[in-house]
Amino acid sequence: MARIIAVANQKGGVGKTTTSVNLAASLAVSGKRVLLIDLDPQGNATTGSGVDKKATSRTVYQVLLGLGEVGGIRIVSESGKYDLLPANRELAGAEVELVDLPNREGRLKAALSSVEADYDFVLIDCPPSLSLLTINGLVAAREVLIPMQCEYYALEGLSDLVGTVKRVRANLNPALEIGGLLRTMYDPRNTLSQQVSAQLEQHFGNKVFKTLVPRNVRLAEAPSYGMAAVVWDRASKGAQAYLALAEEILAPATAA
Ligand code: ATP
Ligand code: MG
Repeated sequence: MARIIAVANQKGGVGKTTTSVNLAASLAVSGKRVLLIDLDPQGNATTGSGVDKKATSRTVYQVLLGLGEVGGIRIVSESGKYDLLPANRELAGAEVELVDLPNREGRLKAALSSVEADYDFVLIDCPPSLSLLTINGLVAAREVLIPMQCEYYALEGLSDLVGTVKRVRANLNPALEIGGLLRTMYDPRNTLSQQVSAQLEQHFGNKVFKTLVPRNVRLAEAPSYGMAAVVWDRASKGAQAYLALAEEILAPATAA
């Protein structure tokens, strides 16, 4: 059974896509079979995987609306060595079109059942909202990975997200668990970063990944080459952090 992980945080720009793309590539480096699903109309995970989103006519949009199957729409990210279910702006329309369809929250989950056996990991890059798209991601997943920046407002947003996860678990997907909180763009010299980071550990204990992703320019540059930083500059600090995260996810540490 594949591990299906939704990478979610309704706050924008916290590193969801960077995490999705680099974790997908890191797991592929470990020989895992990975499907990355771009569930964001921005299509950043698609571009970051080296795929031209504008030239892609069949995407996760068709899958959600029942106009195509994952098996016929997924493509290979040549740079990342994983499969990609791409997205582009067309997906923005799905939000409205899904509302009247049956099983509107569970359509991604239903569509995945036919391909799940092909993979060890399915990663879902969610958009920055708690919309029906994100709900589809959370219903399809068994774990939610929450990237967050260690800044003051991060904690406020977190309670909304945790509330949504609890509601999804109660009503739609009892199997859903918080897989972990990932500290991104971490700056160890910043006192507030350290404080928020310590608070997170206090509240969430071993749900906080030990791996800290530092602020690293290679992570920001790599998408313009259509590659994960893990592929483009594996020695960089950012890439090394995501490789370490993959190790942590592959061999979850037992609580000390
Ligand atoms: P959105 O909510 O818009 O989907 P997101 O949560 O997916 O955003 P990213 O796109 O991954 O966030 O990151 C936001 C910006 O920060 C991007 O320009 C990305 O390249 C950059 N970035 C992400 N992580 C890091 C990092 N650790 N160090 C430096 N830059 C980073
Ligand atoms: Mg994103």
